[in-house]
Amino acid sequence: MARRSLFWFRRDLRLSDNPALLDALAAADETLLLFIMDEAVAERAGEFRRAYLAASLAKLDESVGGKLAVISGSVGAVLQDVIARYGITSVHAAREYAPYGVAAEAELAEIGIQVEYTGSGYAVAPGRVRKPDQTNYRVYTPFYRAWLSHGWRDPAPAPKDPRFVTPDPLDRILPSWSSPSGIELQEAGEEAALDRWRAYQSGGLSSYDEARNIPGIPGTSRLSPHLRWGEIHPRTLLAELNQSSAQQVFRKEIAWREFYADVLHHYPHTSRGYYAPNYAAMRYDKPGAQFAAWCTGKTGYPIVDAGMRQLRREGWMHNRVRMIVASFLVKDLHIEWQYGANFFMKFLIDNDVASNSHGWQWTAGCGTDASPYYRVFNPTEQGRRFDPQGTYIRKYVPELAHLSASDIHAPWEVLDGFRHGYPAPIVDHAQERLESLARLEEIKVAKEPYPHQNV
Ligand SMILES: Cc1cc2nc3c(=O)[nH]c(=O)nc-3n(C[C@H](O)[C@H](O)[C@H](O)COP(=O)(O)OP(=O)(O)OC[C@H]3O[C@@H](n4cnc5c(N)ncnc54)[C@H](O)[C@@H]3O)c2cc1C
Repeated sequence: MARRSLFWFRRDLRLSDNPALLDALAAADETLLLFIMDEAVAERAGEFRRAYLAASLAKLDESVGGKLAVISGSVGAVLQDVIARYGITSVHAAREYAPYGVAAEAELAEIGIQVEYTGSGYAVAPGRVRKPDQTNYRVYTPFYRAWLSHGWRDPAPAPKDPRFVTPDPLDRILPSWSSPSGIELQEAGEEAALDRWRAYQSGGLSSYDEARNIPGIPGTSRLSPHLRWGEIHPRTLLAELNQSSAQQVFRKEIAWREFYADVLHHYPHTSRGYYAPNYAAMRYDKPGAQFAAWCTGKTGYPIVDAGMRQLRREGWMHNRVRMIVASFLVKDLHIEWQYGANFFMKFLIDNDVASNSHGWQWTAGCGTDASPYYRVFNPTEQGRRFDPQGTYIRKYVPELAHLSASDIHAPWEVLDGFRHGYPAPIVDHAQERLESLARLEEIKVAKEPYPHQNV
């Protein structure tokens, strides 16, 4: 009888550069390909993420000739059932480091299901980069240097003549979630990821160092959803980068993703809790009407509103604008970062607990290497500096499209700024900046180092 292994797809929805899949194929005569759908997680995920996942699974299924099993249930129960029904002799998967994946692996270990884990969604698995005294890094730059000298493997080859088990049709309940009406999400799947990477290599990558901060142009790769779902591995990208200054900056951004995963691995409570705990004692306001205005892109601050509307239209937001809207929520509206992070997780198709929670904490001043709390982003100045022609604002805030490049960032200063129903600012930035500094004084952390920071 043919020996059968099982490959459990998790956040690695691809065939190429997938060492765990190669192990599964090498371990048996044929391999069952399985994705386990956790309905509770899907329910919480929001329409954007569900639609992206459904599209990605459909592409994956197509690339394996319609042989992907998709079964709903808890990881333990599904694996137990499938192992018995298909006579599986070994189970293979890549490791995960976000809280949900870690909990799933613990559940399997507890009920005695043995899984052979190979690799992860990172060039260097979280926990591997260590200081000479074997403790972890808490600051990005020394982490980056150690990460570079640690190095990573070359990309793994694509499987050759793989033999996949044909699953029972009842085990192939692929989700049919589609994008909410009027929403066009970026194309999902391994082929789309590789195409995007190739196009970016021959286009934007050479000016990444300068263009990456300008939201009005396609200056960044938009590979984040593909990396989040493992449709492409960072190793594939890193293997093709050279030493030009633009490509070095790109490599450093990939390293931020690895750094945040490492930090979350060592401090799992920071997915929701404060990295610098003294900030938990700060006076914050409860979310109300102003939070609702932020969520819907109606704060009266053009760059903030453009960002929130991009998020709600595309399930993605430019990095510079993520920082601006996050700073506005925490320092102008005095709302705790977790409310914003949860809102982002609901809409982002690149939602990633490590990068999201730590991106928020960095901006809020309570994270690793954090932008000091007292450095409060001025949303009007940020708009003028990074969207000088108003291209980005005009695209997402049509009520302001009639204004010139010099007027669009401060519609309250011109006579016809509110002509098309754009709202007046919900707060006065100058005043709220002082308020946030006063609240910082109350917890008296301005001159103290963060408790975890030791470099
Ligand atoms: C408040 C806030 C929340 C964020 N939430 C997420 C999130 O949920 N998921 C997510 O992937 N990124 C998050 N980021 C990081 C960053 O905004 C996105 O990774 C980036 O905008 C993705 O666009 P891109 O693929 O075009 O990036 P590029 O500029 O092309 O960069 C290439 C890759 O490097 C990585 N990267 C780039 N910048 C960062 C960064 N600052 N931190 C970590 N990784 C980075 C990403 O994997 C990205 O795809 C957040 C940042 C902030 C400030």
